[in-house]
Amino acid sequence: MSAGHDDALVSRRVRRLETLLEERGLLPAHALDEVIDAFLAEASPANGARVVARAWTDPGFRARLLADGTAAVAELGLSAGGVQPQRLRVVENTAAVHNVVVCTLCSCYPIRLLGPSPGWYKSEAYRSRVVREPRSVLAEFGLHLPADTEVTVWDSTSETRYMVLPRRPEGSGGLAEEDLAGLVTRNALIGTAEL
Ligand code: FE
Repeated sequence: MSAGHDDALVSRRVRRLETLLEERGLLPAHALDEVIDAFLAEASPANGARVVARAWTDPGFRARLLADGTAAVAELGLSAGGVQPQRLRVVENTAAVHNVVVCTLCSCYPIRLLGPSPGWYKSEAYRSRVVREPRSVLAEFGLHLPADTEVTVWDSTSETRYMVLPRRPEGSGGLAEEDLAGLVTRNALIGTAEL
């Protein structure tokens, strides 16, 4: 079953449920839309970028972020997102290890920190292939890693979401935290790009 088919099925069920709740007066019309709009308005890769820039400039924050991502992003008023509480684990790229995130089961993703997920993240091809042949998949994104770099693939679940802490670009030493955040891309936070 393709992700697109799953999405369509879930969308129909949600719409039907929403209509029933509204018809029976259990939910004011458009109340759900307003909740979702408010949530999405706060969901952006700019949030993840802010977390990364703080980690690059504040060693104490970086240590707390890697030890307990959920608590560390809460210091900045952020969370992984979602209605149910989700644990956030932040994994750090180094010269020796490159991390990449997937949800093999469906499309779990830290929406609040990365914004709505891209179509390819939800695709059957990415979900199945990145686990088996991460280097080939990363090469298709234009990311060619040295042969001696270890690639670690993290599989998200409904309880745990992952975000990559990318390596700070060379030559960015003099930049302020705000400018550093501007260098961070969504794909770098997933691990399908470097900076
Ligand atoms: Fe999922």
